[in-house]
Amino acid sequence: MGKLQDKVAVVTGAGRGIGKAIAEKFAAEGAKVAIISRTEANSQAAAEAINAQYPGAAKGYAVDVANGPAVAELGKVILADFDHVDILVNNAGVTKDGLLLRMSEEDWDVVLNTNLKGAFNMVKAFQRSILKQKGARIINIASVIGLIGNAGQANYAASKAGLIGFTKSLAREFAGRGVTANVIAPGFIATDMTGVLDEKVKAAVLEKIPLADFGQAEDIAAAVTFLASPEARYITGQVLAVDGGMVM
Ligand code: NAP
Repeated sequence: MGKLQDKVAVVTGAGRGIGKAIAEKFAAEGAKVAIISRTEANSQAAAEAINAQYPGAAKGYAVDVANGPAVAELGKVILADFDHVDILVNNAGVTKDGLLLRMSEEDWDVVLNTNLKGAFNMVKAFQRSILKQKGARIINIASVIGLIGNAGQANYAASKAGLIGFTKSLAREFAGRGVTANVIAPGFIATDMTGVLDEKVKAAVLEKIPLADFGQAEDIAAAVTFLASPEARYITGQVLAVDGGMVM
């Protein structure tokens, strides 16, 4: 028996990177997983890879999480396919970095609409089902940048700090139904998102990590799986940094 045996999970941004690792770990623990990404090809490829190991565990879907009406429609499709949702992981996220002097309104809007409003859209689409499931879980993937800020990432930091406030409010609103809501704040994790940074920037970041190593997507997946499991039933409204000690 896995830790998440027969639970139904929805994971956004699961076509690659951290979200894909979360979906894989969930399937390994016995869950059925709806894999959402922006690009159909990525969500289908991730679902196929999981099904090759855990037959019938995953199904891929494509949507822009920033698009409220489209997310609401997809929510109906996923509920028809899976019947209900026990675990929602809002992991889809983007960066559009730049100093504020040069940051366009569009760069602000895309990041806030994807990282913060996207989570709102997803919770709205599934909240009725989640509130009916005993011991349901919402886990939002923020960032240590949402805790400490970063020059050149005002939009990203605001979106992730907003996600933390959103999650704490959900935790309070949903606690009466036994539903928990928590945040994982990753530090520097080796994925496509950080792969684009130049070597000088990576070396400077590495100096600030006490454990002197970049994190892997599997490190985040392990923490998310714990929060999704019955073992975490008494934890809600918390922010868990998984960052090698960067922020403490
Ligand atoms: P990634 O490799 O860039 O993957 C991002 C995923 O999000 C992709 O599957 C992408 O879909 C999906 N996505 C992006 N915009 C979307 C939208 N509008 N609608 C639906 N899906 C969308 O990123 P990652 O490094 O795995 O990061 C995952 C999460 O962790 C993000 O929220 C990020 O902010 C957070 N995080 C990452 C790090 C890090 O060091 N990597 C650190 C702190 C926090 P497609 O595959 O279809 O493009």
